[in-house]
Amino acid sequence: MTRGAHLSAPYKFVMGFTKAGQTIGELEALIAAYEPNAEFVHDRWAKTAVSQAIQAIKEGNIGVGGCIVKDKTLIFQDHNRQFVPYFRGDLHGEMVLMNQLEDSLKDEPSPNMRAYTIFTSQAPCPMCMLRLITSGVGKILHVYSDFGTPDQGHVSSIERLPPVWAKLAKRQEIGEADCSPELKAISRQAFLLSVSVSVVLPINTSPTASRSWAV
Ligand SMILES: [Zn+2]
Repeated sequence: MTRGAHLSAPYKFVMGFTKAGQTIGELEALIAAYEPNAEFVHDRWAKTAVSQAIQAIKEGNIGVGGCIVKDKTLIFQDHNRQFVPYFRGDLHGEMVLMNQLEDSLKDEPSPNMRAYTIFTSQAPCPMCMLRLITSGVGKILHVYSDFGTPDQGHVSSIERLPPVWAKLAKRQEIGEADCSPELKAISRQAFLLSVSVSVVLPINTSPTASRSWAV
């Protein structure tokens, strides 16, 4: 048996997420009509993150988006680019954003990463959480907390980190954004809409060919 031969067949990965209750058109209308609520400190940025999540779905990617803010100014906004234009397993929304930020700081020998806040529409997955911890970015805030669901991200991730990583994470503020329940609900629906299909991972087939959206 040659190395990797056991991976020769397409691997159908069926995720057990709750089925989304809204269409992409409904989510677009909701986010377009949403006015940031001044009662919530982060509502403006949370809306930007969720808007990006919805844009990701429209492109055929996973419904996670985010933005990077410094001194109350939007620096970058972007979203998951895992499937389109071609499969890149690393291009979760957080990675796309951090790539842009770190590339923009390439000429600074010692960039002040603490000055930046990254908002994500959903709690980061373990891969992204390690990247964010490594980056030293000051605040890592998510809109939708998926704790206790099959897609739970950072909470369990931090608890399971090796001690050195867990210690590193203490440098940063990590947690939920102060935003409205409405935005959290839209964010969750966006994610669920994008994962409520079976994905054939790209071992020897195109991942995008099998994706169809319930729109
Ligand atoms: Zn991730």
